[in-house]
Amino acid sequence: MPDHITIAVTKGDRIVAQQLALLAQLGIEPHDDLTKSRKLVFTTSREDVSLLLLRGSDVATYVEHGIADLGMAGKDVLLEHGEQGYYQPLDLKLGQCRIMVAGLQDEAPLPGRLKIATKFVRTAKQYYAERGIQVDIIKLYGAMELAPVTGLAHRIVDIVETGNTLKANGLVAMEHICDVSTRLIVNKTAMKIKYGIINALIEQLRQAVD
Ligand code: AMP
Repeated sequence: MPDHITIAVTKGDRIVAQQLALLAQLGIEPHDDLTKSRKLVFTTSREDVSLLLLRGSDVATYVEHGIADLGMAGKDVLLEHGEQGYYQPLDLKLGQCRIMVAGLQDEAPLPGRLKIATKFVRTAKQYYAERGIQVDIIKLYGAMELAPVTGLAHRIVDIVETGNTLKANGLVAMEHICDVSTRLIVNKTAMKIKYGIINALIEQLRQAVD
C-alpha cells in the first residue's frame, strides 16, 4: 500500500522494549503487548503504521524483499546477512556491544592453523581472510564459550557486552573485530515510492536517538 508503512522489529524481550521506546517517541505504539502476544503482526496507534515481530536475520530478509518497508536489526545480523538489498541510514544505538575473538585465559601453545567456533561465520571468515590467516571455522548456534573449554575449538568469535560471560567460563577477549548496535534498514524501492513518509520517519527517529 503506497501510504502504509510496515516496520519489522527484532524479537527478544530487552531489545523489543528498547525499539518500542524509540517508536513511542514517534507516536507509534502497538495495540498489543509484543512480548506477551502470540501475534506476529501488530496494528498501532498510527493507522498507517504496522509492526512485524521477527528474528533479526528475518528482519533483513523481509526488508530486502519489500514486505517490510523499514526494519530494526543488529549490525552483527546484518553483517552475516550480507548487507545487500537495503539502505542503512541510521544507527539506533541500541544493544551496543562488540564482536570479539576470545580464547582461554591460560591458553596452551596454539597450532599454526586455528579452529574457530562461532555463529558469525561470514564475519569470522572475512576477519581472518583480510589478515591472510588460514583457519577452520566451526559453526555453532549458541554457548560458544563452551568450545575452547571442551577443546572443540581454539578460539571463538562472539558478541561481548560486559565480558561477564567470557569471564565466567575462564575466557578473555583478545581481538576486537567490530562494534555492534541496532541499525535502521530501509527497503530500496520503498525509499523511492514512499519517500516523503519514510524520510519523515527517519528524521523523527534520528531526533529520538539523539
Ligand atoms: P556479556 O556477558 O555481557 O559480555 O554478554 C555476552 C553474551 O550475551 C553473549 O553470549 C551474547 O550472545 C549475549 N549478548 C550480549 N549483548 C548482546 C546484543 N546486543 N545482541 C546479541 N547478543 C548479545
